[in-house]
Amino acid sequence: MLKKLALINETILDCLNEKDDIKIVKTFTETGIKILGANFGFVWLKQLNNDKWTLVYKTRNLPFHPHKPRLTGINYKVMTTGKIRYIKKFKNTPSDSNAGKHIKSFMIIPISYKEKTYGTVVICFKKPESFSREKKVLSTFLGNGIAQVMTVHRSHERAEKLKEAHILLNQEKLKTEFIANTTHELRTPLAVIRGTVDMVFLENKINNKTFVENTLKNINKEVAHLSGILANLALLTSESGRTKNRIDYKPVNISKLIGELARRLRNVSREKDISIQTKIPRNIILAGDENYLTKLFSNLIRNAITYGRHKGWVKISMLVKKNTAEIIVSDNGIGIDKKDLPHIFDRFYRGDKAHSSDGKRTGLGLAIAKWVTDIHGGKISVSSSIGKGSTFTVILPIKNSRK
Ligand code: ADP
Repeated sequence: MLKKLALINETILDCLNEKDDIKIVKTFTETGIKILGANFGFVWLKQLNNDKWTLVYKTRNLPFHPHKPRLTGINYKVMTTGKIRYIKKFKNTPSDSNAGKHIKSFMIIPISYKEKTYGTVVICFKKPESFSREKKVLSTFLGNGIAQVMTVHRSHERAEKLKEAHILLNQEKLKTEFIANTTHELRTPLAVIRGTVDMVFLENKINNKTFVENTLKNINKEVAHLSGILANLALLTSESGRTKNRIDYKPVNISKLIGELARRLRNVSREKDISIQTKIPRNIILAGDENYLTKLFSNLIRNAITYGRHKGWVKISMLVKKNTAEIIVSDNGIGIDKKDLPHIFDRFYRGDKAHSSDGKRTGLGLAIAKWVTDIHGGKISVSSSIGKGSTFTVILPIKNSRK
């Protein structure tokens, strides 16, 4: 008896890593037939989402096809009560399969654990069986064993499903935030375009050639800016491998690029009475993508203004070393919390909600900044102290001839 119990235990251990219910019941039924001295068997399982029965397994030598459990039948009773049944003398009724021809006795073992019944195992005997105490103990253990394994398996499955759902939910959240950010990014240039066109009509300047020309030039610039943003966002969302091919490395006058940006952004900084001071050596050229570099520094300078203090300053300087240009953007604004510092370059990461005063910031700016720096073979870092201000340093290789 102990040896047989040990065999059930071994089967439990063997099946713990098995994910397929059918394989589990097959292994157990075969063990059961062996230790109970039976001849064949089959297994009914209740489907997970409804109460339908499925014959999931029968031994190859089963000489009849079991009929579906009926509401009035013993199988159904075992399933609903979770109590094992031993039938010593099997009487075939006319509606039954011709099982009576082949078997004299059988037992129906519920697969149940903690009041949950997954199905039944039917073990059949060709010869009449008296069901000794030992066989009764063993069959009870067998039913419990299968149920235990299936419980472990199903809770594991449930945990996996929950994990999957969680991942999907997170992705959905990221997507929503991403769309919010994109909308925000696109709104500004569109507003400029609309305003300029309105001006032509409102001020009746349609016949003023110079005015119209200037307006079109401005619109053109903003459209280019829009396309740039779209390309940037598209790149940021695609895999890095594919993106590399689409970057256009050309000589870029980084001094001019930053100088122009500073001039452009003075309009924005004026609103907060923030001064922008630049200290940039002239005509430093590096190999890079002008659109992306513009986006990188525009993000840093915009942030310095957004998170800057009223009447404060933003300083932009450049140190040229042997092979690198070190561009430093610092402000004397609100600074960044120590706990946020390791995350600010992550996509969609935003500091304390209170910091993001206009509700439009979505935490993509620094992710783009880091990505642009990376593809130029550079490094970006930050030092900050809460209440005092922040300093972002971008180091870019000057002799960058990457293609
Ligand atoms: P966003 O500004 O749209 O939230 P960013 O990726 O540009 O996204 O910045 C991420 C976070 O880093 C911001 O939410 C803000 O908390 C913090 N941060 C960025 N730049 C500065 C800065 N110059 N001063 C203070 N905090 C900053």
